[in-house]
Amino acid sequence: MRNMTGKDNGSAVKHVVIVGGGFAGLACAKALATVASVRVTLLDKNNYQQFQPLLYQVATGSLAPQRAAFNLRAELLKQENIDVHLTDIISIDLAGRAVTGKNGETYAADFLVLAAGSQANFFSISGVEEFAFPMYSLLDAERLRSRLIEVFEATDEAIALGASATLHLAVIGGGSTGVELAGAIADICHRAPAKLYKNLRLADVVITLINGKDEVLSGFTQRSKTYARQALEERGVKLRLNTRVKEVTSRDILLGDQTRIPCSLAIWAGGLKAAPLAETMNLQLGQGGRLDVQPDLTLGGYPCVYALGDFANTRDKGGKLLPQLAAVAQQAGRQCARNIAACADGSPTSAFAYFDKGVMAMIGRNAAVAEIGPQRIALTQFIAFIAWLGVHILLLSTLSARVGACLEWAWNYFGGVSVEGILDSPSPSQIDVTRIE
Ligand SMILES: Cc1cc2nc3c(=O)[nH]c(=O)nc-3n(C[C@H](O)[C@H](O)[C@H](O)COP(=O)(O)OP(=O)(O)OC[C@H]3O[C@@H](n4cnc5c(N)ncnc54)[C@H](O)[C@@H]3O)c2cc1C
Repeated sequence: MRNMTGKDNGSAVKHVVIVGGGFAGLACAKALATVASVRVTLLDKNNYQQFQPLLYQVATGSLAPQRAAFNLRAELLKQENIDVHLTDIISIDLAGRAVTGKNGETYAADFLVLAAGSQANFFSISGVEEFAFPMYSLLDAERLRSRLIEVFEATDEAIALGASATLHLAVIGGGSTGVELAGAIADICHRAPAKLYKNLRLADVVITLINGKDEVLSGFTQRSKTYARQALEERGVKLRLNTRVKEVTSRDILLGDQTRIPCSLAIWAGGLKAAPLAETMNLQLGQGGRLDVQPDLTLGGYPCVYALGDFANTRDKGGKLLPQLAAVAQQAGRQCARNIAACADGSPTSAFAYFDKGVMAMIGRNAAVAEIGPQRIALTQFIAFIAWLGVHILLLSTLSARVGACLEWAWNYFGGVSVEGILDSPSPSQIDVTRIE
């Protein structure tokens, strides 16, 4: 085992090791830039931060992958007290405050920050892991984009060969991710040039959104939920609410009422749980397999170990669990940095207090919902659409990403949509045209 970097025993400079350079880890690292008493090692299995709110646009071909992922070294270029390592951490020694990568390298710390994010939770539903396409990572989004183009191509070919084929797509999960995907795919199907495929009429593609609850966008106000539902229906999305998925196969989906709906592409947006690293720690895990944390974001019994973002169950002042949101992760990252700086100076830590700026979801062209501030002032339609674009432009970290995204959005808005995107990912699965029914 190689010891890559160690604690600063006896030194005034403390070593902070952060596992995960996502919203939480990166915010923590950036906030520690001005703290002279620490040096930081940021570890991530990818060399980029993925910007999940824009992944559905990558998946539907309206945004290039590089607009939704940012090189970690470039992000931290000006920060002199930080070192970035590309490494997949496979085990954590909480008592020793050390983590080990898959090549045996260890990183020992004075302060350990665990911010490894989430993975898709398939809830052990038969066939979901095998046949449905999850939407959590940049790779998921790129695979999904390729699969979408593949099923369009395969259906066009099947019809050309004489089949009378209707293409059925299903999105499982009616939260923001599911709603955004269903709306974006419906927009593609209605706005793409009619002659793009000679045989397949994209406007005839059947898109079904399946949700276990009797509404979409739970967590939003009733006005937003009602609007989202109407906006999806106006786009031709079939809603199967109050409906559980029991099984996904290569050609259909079995629903809770024992009916089967044909499906050539099932997209899983049905839930998340903590990244696999959480299960390696021999800790009792909380809701969603996440680490329960103290009000100051440390793990109980480990005062120098912090857990943040989607990897942790973080609570507001009243003790209510906070949702898995980028804003929660970023604010927790900054609070963690403040607490580490305080600890390093021998001062007490303070509790995390979340400032709720609101929530947003895009449904499609000119259609979004935005709820501003803790009072949740609800906006819908075009004004919410513009607000969504504005907020997401500001969240992008580089000028080139902002300019690039603006240009791509403007092109899509005024010039039509780009489903002619190239099929550049390795084929995620063989297309069986008999599945196109
Ligand atoms: C499709 C989608 C859309 C979303 N849209 C929104 C939205 O519109 N608004 C919003 O507020 N929130 C949104 N969210 C939620 C938001 O993205 C998350 O809450 C946020 O990313 C959590 O930040 P994090 O830092 O905890 O995790 P992440 O941002 O996921 O970062 C975790 C990091 O840890 C790294 N990592 C994981 N395991 C290891 C390991 N073993 N070794 C090394 N590195 C590791 C990963 O590579 C990753 O870089 C969305 C989520 C998804 C999936």
